[in-house]
Amino acid sequence: MIDYNNDISINRAMAGIDAWCKKNAISECLEKNQECTPGVIKSHSIQNRRVLELLVDAGHVHMIQPSSSGVRFEKVGRNKATTFTGYCGFHDNSIFAPIDFGDDRIFDIENNAQLSLLTLRAIAKEYWAS
Ligand SMILES: [Zn+2]
Repeated sequence: MIDYNNDISINRAMAGIDAWCKKNAISECLEKNQECTPGVIKSHSIQNRRVLELLVDAGHVHMIQPSSSGVRFEKVGRNKATTFTGYCGFHDNSIFAPIDFGDDRIFDIENNAQLSLLTLRAIAKEYWAS
């Protein structure tokens, strides 16, 4: 039983819930069809190479994380930050290529396709997390 007046008890309960969520996370492609490549990949809901790079501090980014007192900022390794296992490699690359920003592909706030894909990726991450 959780003692809600005891931080250690709350932290253990939160750690148990977190471990359960990680173990039971969705691990199949949300676009599941015959084009799927085997397995799922850890997709970044925020692009790692170009966008997270702007926020990295010694290999980590600060993210809002649940805690026993609500939420708090914690350092998360950039390769784990914002990742989820919701797409196979083929679909992650093919669907989200227009928002895989690089030297020849930049964010354009007037580009409705990019805005839609950024929205889709955010919704997919939240769906995965729920
Ligand atoms: Zn797929």
